[in-house]
Amino acid sequence: MTTILTVHPDADPETVRGMLQGLGLWVQGSRGADGRLSVFSIEPHSVRLAPEALRRLPGVAQVFAGTSDHPLLDRQTGRAVAVGKWLHIGGGAPPVLAAGLCCAESEALVEATAAAVARAGGTLLRGGAFKPRTSPYAFAGHGLQALRWLRAAASRHGLGLVTEALSEADVAAVAEVADLIQVGSRNMQNFALLQAIGRTGRPALLKRGRAATLAEWRSAAEYLLVAGASGVILCERGIAGQDPELRNTLDLGAVALLKHIDGLAVMVDPSHATGRRDLIEPLSRAALAAGADGLLVECHPDPAVARSDGPQAVSFATLDRIGALLDGHLAQPACAAARVAP
Ligand code: PEP
Ligand code: MN
Repeated sequence: MTTILTVHPDADPETVRGMLQGLGLWVQGSRGADGRLSVFSIEPHSVRLAPEALRRLPGVAQVFAGTSDHPLLDRQTGRAVAVGKWLHIGGGAPPVLAAGLCCAESEALVEATAAAVARAGGTLLRGGAFKPRTSPYAFAGHGLQALRWLRAAASRHGLGLVTEALSEADVAAVAEVADLIQVGSRNMQNFALLQAIGRTGRPALLKRGRAATLAEWRSAAEYLLVAGASGVILCERGIAGQDPELRNTLDLGAVALLKHIDGLAVMVDPSHATGRRDLIEPLSRAALAAGADGLLVECHPDPAVARSDGPQAVSFATLDRIGALLDGHLAQPACAAARVAP
């Protein structure tokens, strides 16, 4: 259980901190997107003060008295996350397709892929400029140059852009071009990276760690929000399974729970979940049936020569069929089930 206080814009945050500490509260400060110390969370071993008493303290603007460890994420319940100037994901909006290359391999390939994504009815172009690779000898992306290719191609085709910030060093450059900043599975609990991404004030697509519980995943989302992210979309991309025939195990129960019980915005990445292009279409259907607010799909005009994740890349023809699944798809309900104690 966490209680969070926001500092009134006219108050001096250090004076507020001193006052809170003087009352016997252990507080942890966080800076917002503008770099100002604007939020204090109260650590659990602090003295107990009623939320009404906290609200009356000078310099305190708002108090979110926690019944959960992620009060800011809870405020997203039933609400859409705004991406760019025109797109809304979750909160009752129709599901979206984000698709593209695993890795932005060349300018020409990015351009051809953006055209195919737009044709298939996609709204976001995906593609990695900075790639997390298991082997240090594998191709790790074209970096800044690839960011420029992605942004230009996305804009030419009327698409938004989602791309990964792999390290704190990439965040500023990624935030300059991306409408939605991706946090990769391997980085779900890289808290310094989450804070750096949050400070940009952009929305984030938070992929689930391969062995992460839902509680850990929600807390990682809270890190982004407390640092200033405008919203978080959770992306289920498969968790560690037991069978080597599948790259991971797509946890659709988690999708249904986060969407229908928590009321959060959730996307599904069937590509990394399975590692097999022949399963992407059926699992896209399953993800939408479970309540996903969007799909994140890897495609390639010639998967056999893809420099990363070729086996899971679908052809442009298959992408058209996946796009058609979304045509006229009813809006996902904002939150179908009330949150009830089990
Ligand atoms: C990706 O989407 O490019 C990616 C590397 O995925 P994940 O972090 O889920 O492995
Ligand atoms: Mn990939």
